[in-house]
Amino acid sequence: MPIYEYNCTKCKNKFEMIRSLKNMEAEAACPVCGGKAQRILSTCTTFSRGGDGITKSIAGTGSSCSSCSGGSCSGCH
Ligand SMILES: [Zn+2]
Repeated sequence: MPIYEYNCTKCKNKFEMIRSLKNMEAEAACPVCGGKAQRILSTCTTFSRGGDGITKSIAGTGSSCSSCSGGSCSGCH
């Protein structure tokens, strides 16, 4: 099942949760404070447009992604 990133609206805790596609839009409970957490909409995609205008795949290359806190795209597509 896919892993989604959530951000707690109460304590700003960021965490990942494995959820089914059916529940991906539902609010999650923060594991720290139990508050409402909203899913972080990742802007990271498989393809990234480089400065040279050439669209290239960055998936699986280990490249860092500005949209991912983990520094890789392994969890965001
Ligand atoms: Zn929280």
